[in-house]
Amino acid sequence: MTNQKSGFCLHQAINFQPLTIDASALIKDVISLLSQNRASCVLIVENQKLIGIFTERDVVRLTSNILDLAESTIDTVMSKNLISITASQVTDIFTILNLMRSYRIRHLPVLNELDQLIGIVTPKTIRKVFKPSDMLRFRLISELMETQVIQASPATTILDIALLMAKNKISCVVISDNNTEDHTYPIGIITEVDIVKFRARGLDFSSTQAKQVMSTPLKPIKNTDSLWLAHQIMEQENIRRLVVIDSQDKLCGIITQTSLLRILDPIEMQSLIKILQQTVDEQTLQLQQQNQKLQNEIKERLLAQSALSSSEMNYRYIAEKLEIANQELQQLANYDGLTGLANRRYFDNCLQQEWKNSLRGQTSLSLIMCDVDYFKKYNDTYGHQAGDKCLQQIAYVLKETIKRPLDLAARYGGEEFVILLPNTSIEGAIHLAKLIISKVESLDIPHINSDVSHCVTVSLGAASNNPSNDSLESLITAADKMLYKAKSAGRNRTAFV
Ligand code: GH3
Ligand code: MG
Ligand code: MG
Repeated sequence: MTNQKSGFCLHQAINFQPLTIDASALIKDVISLLSQNRASCVLIVENQKLIGIFTERDVVRLTSNILDLAESTIDTVMSKNLISITASQVTDIFTILNLMRSYRIRHLPVLNELDQLIGIVTPKTIRKVFKPSDMLRFRLISELMETQVIQASPATTILDIALLMAKNKISCVVISDNNTEDHTYPIGIITEVDIVKFRARGLDFSSTQAKQVMSTPLKPIKNTDSLWLAHQIMEQENIRRLVVIDSQDKLCGIITQTSLLRILDPIEMQSLIKILQQTVDEQTLQLQQQNQKLQNEIKERLLAQSALSSSEMNYRYIAEKLEIANQELQQLANYDGLTGLANRRYFDNCLQQEWKNSLRGQTSLSLIMCDVDYFKKYNDTYGHQAGDKCLQQIAYVLKETIKRPLDLAARYGGEEFVILLPNTSIEGAIHLAKLIISKVESLDIPHINSDVSHCVTVSLGAASNNPSNDSLESLITAADKMLYKAKSAGRNRTAFV
C-alpha cells in the first residue's frame, strides 16, 4: 500500500478502526455514540458488509424532526448510496482526494476484495499522512479561507442555528457580537459536533440560546497568518475549523480542515511533486557526482602531497646527511686533523695542478719548506701535548700569512710544513718566509732547550721553478735543500734559491 512515487504511505491514510454499528441501532444511541467518540460518522455494517453511513451532517439535517425519530432505527435515516473504494484501487493519495472532492464527501469507506469494510479515509486521516507542512508554511490563510461565513447573534436558539446549518449545508455558524452594528466581531462558534453533543445531552433546542452553549472564547487566527499555523492550532486544540479575523479583529472568514486539504489540488500537486522530485533527483545526482569527484581529487592530492613531502623530506634529509658525510670525508681526506691545514695528500694534488698551470701559463711557482727548530727537544721538555699545541699555533701563523686565494699552506709531515705559492716569484716567497719567521718569534712560545733562541723558532727553505725546463721534483728538492741549508746555517732563518 505504499506509493513509492509520491512517497506517502497510504496504509496510514486509512483509519482501520472506524466507528461501526448494526442497522438495528436506535438513532439516539447512534448520536450519543458519535458524541462520546467525537467521531464525525458511524458506518452501518451487516455481516461485515457496509450498508450505510450516518454522519454528523445527517444529525444536523434531521434536526427539525429528530425528536420524532429518536426511537427509530438508524437504517431508516442512514445514507445508502455509498461511495466507497477498494483497497486495490488506492494507488495514490490524489485518487482519494479527487473522489472525495468530486462527490463532495468527507468520508470514504475502504473495502477489501470481498466487499467487506476494512477502514475509512477522512480529511483528518489524509492530513496525518500528507504532512503538508511545506505546502502550508508559505501560503496565507487569506488565500484559502471561506469568506461566506454564516453568522448568528448570541440570542439565536440552537434550533435556528441547526436549521441554518442544514439550509446552507455548512458545518458551523459563527456567533457575532450584536452590540455592534455590523455584527462582525466573532465571539463564539457552534459546529455540527456541538449540535450532536447538544442532542446527546437532551438540550431543548428551541429554548437554548447560542450564547449559553457556544464555544467561547474563540481562538481566532489572523488572515495574514500561515496555513501552517492554522494546521498546528487545529492539531493542538483538536478542532476542525478556525475563525479568521482581520487586522481590526473583524470577522473575515473561516478556515477548516477541508479547506486546508484544498491546497493539495491533485493535478497541481502531482505535477509539482514530479517536478520537484525530478529536480531534487537531478541535483542530488549531480551533487553526489561532484562530491565524489572532489573527494577523489582531494584523496589523490593528499596522497601525492604526502608522497611528495615525504620523498622530499627523505631526499632533503639524505642529501643533508650526505653533504655532512661528504664534508667529513673531505675533511678526513684532505685536511690534517691536528692543525686544520691541508694534508700531504691534498698538497700533492694541488702541487701537480699548479705545476701544470705554471707550465701552461709560464708563471712562477714558489715553494717554501718550513721545519720547527729543535722540536724534539721541545717535546722532551714540555711534553707531547704542548708540542701539539705549539704545532697548532705555528699552523695558524702560516694560515693567516698567506693571503691569495690560490696560496696553500699544508702540513707536510711531523713538524714540517709546506707553502705553495702559485704565480709567485722567489722574492714574494722570501718576503712571506721572513714574515713567518718573525711571526713565529712573536708567538713567543718558550723553548728553554732550544740552541738558537729562548722561544720556538722555525727554519725555511724557499725555491721557485723555472717553468721552461724544471721538473716538479726538482722544485721540491730545491726547497728541501734550502731548508737544510737554513738549518745548517744556524736555524731560525730562510735560505732560498
Ligand atoms: P731540527 O731543528 O733539526 O729540525 O731538530 P728537530 O728536533 O726539530 O728534528 P727531528 O726531526 O729530530 O725531530 C722532529 C720531532 O718532531 C720528532 C717528533 O717527536 C716531533 N713531532 C713530529 N710530529 C709531531 C706531532 O704531531 N706532535 C708533536 N708533539 N711532535 C711531533
Ligand atoms: Mg723535521
Ligand atoms: Mg725540526
